[in-house]
Amino acid sequence: MTPIGPRSTRRRLLRAGLGAGAGVIVPGSDPGPAATAPTDARRDATPTAGGRSGSATADAVIRPKGGGVTQLDDHRIARVVVQDLVSRYPRTVGRNSHLGSHGSGPTSPIALVQTDQGAVGWGLLRGPTDGLDGLVGRRLTDLFDPAVGVIEAVAEPLDFALHDLAGTILGLPVSKMIGSHDDSVVPCYDGAIYFDDLDPEGNPRGVDAVLQNCADDYALGYRAFKLKIGRGYRWMERDDGLRRDVEVTRAVAQRFSDCPILVDANDGYDIDGFVAYLDGVGDVDLFWVEEPFAERREDLARLRSYLDRHRPTTLIADGELRPNIPFLLELASEKLVDVLLMDVLSLGLTGWRRLMPDLIRIGVAASPHAWGVPLKTLYAAHLAAGLGNVVTVEAVPGTVPTVDTAAYRVAGGSLHLPDLPGFGIEPPRRSTDP
Ligand SMILES: [Mg+2]
Repeated sequence: MTPIGPRSTRRRLLRAGLGAGAGVIVPGSDPGPAATAPTDARRDATPTAGGRSGSATADAVIRPKGGGVTQLDDHRIARVVVQDLVSRYPRTVGRNSHLGSHGSGPTSPIALVQTDQGAVGWGLLRGPTDGLDGLVGRRLTDLFDPAVGVIEAVAEPLDFALHDLAGTILGLPVSKMIGSHDDSVVPCYDGAIYFDDLDPEGNPRGVDAVLQNCADDYALGYRAFKLKIGRGYRWMERDDGLRRDVEVTRAVAQRFSDCPILVDANDGYDIDGFVAYLDGVGDVDLFWVEEPFAERREDLARLRSYLDRHRPTTLIADGELRPNIPFLLELASEKLVDVLLMDVLSLGLTGWRRLMPDLIRIGVAASPHAWGVPLKTLYAAHLAAGLGNVVTVEAVPGTVPTVDTAAYRVAGGSLHLPDLPGFGIEPPRRSTDP
C-alpha cells in the first residue's frame, strides 16, 4: 500500500504505486501519415522554440520570450472548422449513483483553427459556435495571449484549439507555455470503475465484474482506482446499496493492495449514510472521498470532524457538479474541502489558469474533472504539468480512433507527457471514422 502521509503531503501529490507495467492512454489505432490539409499545414508551420522568463516561480505564469508574441502576431485566423470526434472506451461503462449506462464512448465536437501562415491548432470545443465565423481575418494576438489564454469572449469556445495553435507556433508544449511547474510526469488515477457489478440486469455479474475492470486497467498501467459508490441512492435498497459499496471497496483494496483507492458518490449519500459507509470499510485507506453529498457546510464540517478522528489522511474532493466557485472557495478556506474538481472543459484552460493562483493562495489543491472524453485527461495533465497544485489527474481510459496519442503514456500510475509543441497531437484524419 502506498505510504500514508499527513493530509498536506497528500494534497501535494498522489504517489501511486511503483509496480511494473506500462500502457498507453488513448493509443491511436492507425498512426499512419495524416492526409488532411490541416495536418500538412501544421507541419508547414515551423515551430520556433520559445523560452522562459528568468523570474518565473513555480506558481507564476510565464511569457515566452524570444519574440514569441511577435510570432503569434504574424498569424491571422484563416479558417475555423467544427466537426465531431469519436472516442471509444475499452469497455461499456455502467451506471453511477444517479445516471444509467455511460456507454462505449462519446462523440464530441472539436474545432480546428488554421492561420493564414498555415499553422493549425485543434481541440475540444467548449461552447456554442455562434460568432466563430467572425473570427476569420482576426489577428491571433487579438484573441489569445500565451500568458493568459483566450482574451476575446467570442473565441472562448476555441480555448483548447488556440492553446494548441499558440503552442505549435511557439514550439512549446502547452504545459510549458502556461506555467513553469515543468513536470512532464503527472500522477493519475483510473476514473472508469463504475457499477458494472449491477449489469446486465437480470443476470448481474456482481463484484467480480468490478475486480475484472480494475485488473484490465491495471494492465494498462493504472495504479490508483476511483470507485463509484452510492448504489443505494437509486439502484438498490439503501441498506443493500451501502453493503455493496462496502463490499466492492474492501474487495478492490484487498486485491490491489499497491493501489490507492478513491471513492466518488456523485452526491448519492447523506451525511449519516456516508459515515456508515466509512465505518463499514474499516481499515481500508481512502485517498479521497469525492462528492459524498451535496455541499452543505454543516455536513462537510461533520465529515471533516469524523475524518480528523478516524482518517486524518483522507482528502475531501468536491466541486464537480454545478460548481458555485465562490462558495467552494469559502469551504476551502475553512478547510472543509481539500481538492476542487471543476471540469477542465467547462471551466477551460483559461479559466483554470485564472483561478489557480487563488487556490494556491488559499491552500486548496485541484484535480480538474475529466470524465467522459479521453482528450480531457490530456488537457488536465498539461494543466497539472504546467501550473502544478494538481494532486492527481483523472484518467479516462480509451482510444480516439482518428488521432494518434501514442506519445502520451501511462506507466506505473503516472501519465507521461511528450515534449511536443501544443498538445502534441496531429489533427484527426477523419473524425467520423468509427
Ligand atoms: Mg465525480
